[in-house]
Amino acid sequence: MDFASVLLNWYRENGRVLPWRGSHDPYLIWVSEVIFQQTRIEQGTGYFLRFTARFSTIVDFAEAEEDEVLKLWQGLGYYSRARNMHYTARHICENYEGKFPRDFGTILKLKGIGDYTASCISSICFGEPHAAVDGNVYRVLSRFYADNTSIDGPTGKSHFKRIAQELISRERPGDFNEALMDLGATVCKPRSPLCKICPLNLLCKAYPRNLQAEFPVKALALKRTAMVINYLLVNSNDQILIQKRTGKGIWKGLYELPMISGDLGKLDLVAEYEEQYGLKMDNLKEVSRVKQNLTHAELDIRFYSAPNAEVKPDRISSLLTIPVGKIENYPFPKPLVDFLNKP
Ligand code: SF4
Repeated sequence: MDFASVLLNWYRENGRVLPWRGSHDPYLIWVSEVIFQQTRIEQGTGYFLRFTARFSTIVDFAEAEEDEVLKLWQGLGYYSRARNMHYTARHICENYEGKFPRDFGTILKLKGIGDYTASCISSICFGEPHAAVDGNVYRVLSRFYADNTSIDGPTGKSHFKRIAQELISRERPGDFNEALMDLGATVCKPRSPLCKICPLNLLCKAYPRNLQAEFPVKALALKRTAMVINYLLVNSNDQILIQKRTGKGIWKGLYELPMISGDLGKLDLVAEYEEQYGLKMDNLKEVSRVKQNLTHAELDIRFYSAPNAEVKPDRISSLLTIPVGKIENYPFPKPLVDFLNKP
């Protein structure tokens, strides 16, 4: 039996049961693939169910306010993906009467949809043989062939895409893609792959030589920039001050507490809060610190409180005053959600 037949036989008995499996609705497949590119199944399933319960069609989604979309996305990270999806949903409603385009090249041109997601939609919903290649697939294929092409090198991604494209079942491309993802997620796992029960073990090049841990090969070590972010909680009479993030950056469109960046002492922070926000305060206290790693940044987030801080009367402030009880109505980045929900 060839690679595709072995894989599809295995998938029939062992494929994961997931809420969108069996669906050929491009909207549902799109949402699921975007969510699960950035989170594990256990965490992401709740998000998928809440998102699609609230927006059951692309039209519902397109008509929503951005704040509500970001609120449902809160905690998933990569907020630009949610904003791009929202833009694309509106674009599809305006230009394609709310129906996903079927043509692969057209899908690929939609904002926020790359080769992987376009291939998933095209193969699962429209039966087109486009191989969807993500981290799971790089891992399975690089081990299966003991192929040391580095996946972060200039040609790595196209190299493995080409291999997957040659292997894909022409009759059942959607099942093939889902099977390969499932095998990577549940059997050919990053650590401790379950080679003894793997359907490909008789053909795999890495397994008999015990080389599984050597693949996939990565050439570049990820470098993260260290950043310090200071947030100020001004909580007076059950009201707090917040602001909406504008400009570029992953948290654009979300809300946050008044923020100053930089590794600053208290005196400098007090001066900066007055300069940037017109806030006067007499007692600034550090209340907690957390570290968070993003793809390219290592954040050192420091939370301060100054209960009696006030915006100077002669200053027009960009800050919003909201009741503490309404915090839930605003989308915040995850570290702020955790901080604001602390008892
Ligand atoms: S035999 Fe092991 S290394 Fe090879 S594809 Fe299967 S799980 Fe991966």
